Amino acid sequence: MKSKLLCQSCHTEYPSSEPRWNCLCGGLLTLDFHARFPIGKIKKRKPTLWRYREALPIEHDHHIISFDEGFTPLIKEELFGKKILLKQDYLFPSGSYKDRGASVLVSKMKELGLKQVVEDSSGNAGAAIAAYCAKASIDCHIYVPEKTSPEKLMQIKQYGAHLHTIQGSREDTAQAAGQHAQTTYYASHYWNPFFFHGTKTCIFEIVEQLGWKPPDSLIVPVGNGTLLYGSYIGLKELQQEDIIDKLPRIIGVQTENCAPLANAWKNNSTFISLKTPKQTIAEGIAITNPVRANNILQSIKETNGDMITVTDKEILDAQYYIGRKGYYIEPTSAVALAGLKKLATRKDDLVVIPLTGHGLKTKKMLR
Ligand SMILES: [Zn+2]
Repeated sequence: MKSKLLCQSCHTEYPSSEPRWNCLCGGLLTLDFHARFPIGKIKKRKPTLWRYREALPIEHDHHIISFDEGFTPLIKEELFGKKILLKQDYLFPSGSYKDRGASVLVSKMKELGLKQVVEDSSGNAGAAIAAYCAKASIDCHIYVPEKTSPEKLMQIKQYGAHLHTIQGSREDTAQAAGQHAQTTYYASHYWNPFFFHGTKTCIFEIVEQLGWKPPDSLIVPVGNGTLLYGSYIGLKELQQEDIIDKLPRIIGVQTENCAPLANAWKNNSTFISLKTPKQTIAEGIAITNPVRANNILQSIKETNGDMITVTDKEILDAQYYIGRKGYYIEPTSAVALAGLKKLATRKDDLVVIPLTGHGLKTKKMLR
């Protein structure tokens, strides 16, 4: 299960036993790792994301930091007159799918013997990293924008993390954490490739729950692309091992008020970071400069997917609509549902939407 880190810019290789989160040239790292899927063994294991043990890049079991999370329910629903499947990823220990990435990344940090880390987030990733660091006894510093929901701030503090609230934009928060990361390991959910090797387990579970078959489409909210690009990595691994023979269309949804990726996609142009974003209720995806923009756009292109935008009003309407069906999710999570309403889907399409974050993290009653 040996793996190595590869720079996407200068192609330098590093052993994954080195505590690196980026290349010395400043480039993004990809994890080169051979995932395997022994289905007979997998089926006998506990229903957690760690059942895909041979597909997770941790060398020794005793480094695994887990709350037995994952294998969330995939259930049939009819929304806006369309039959779809909802993956209930808001039912994680910290209340969002980010626990997938945190479990794998913090296990890796344990394996590296790290004692202290830093992370920045709009809230959910920070809470997830803080929870898993608490379990691993790793000291962690979490940077968040000061406007983050008080519920998320309280959660991060409750886990015992050092909370740093930063004035200004999400980008300012990332910069402050980046400064700190010059001397401390950066447990970044968008820079660090191990995080994506956790978020990829969402699609493993979906494929297994569908009888080891891929859906036709996957609709996800996109900010830094941790779920979207993670899903792509997982799908490629499943395809390489002949578990699936085709890739579903990956459809990314952004909020109109902050849509740098959707703009690049629509204009078929190179990605440019957004200088003046507007306020949005979808705080989890208000990202003006996603560092993995090229990875995200390439994933959509290769899967013949699409990228669309929705307004804050459409997000609120979708959150309200699904609440009346018994699902309590946060606005960022409703972004994909608002996207579903807008999309033209074929009647027999097998569409899956992960519900990414719990409604209890929401700032206030919105309507
Ligand atoms: Zn490099």
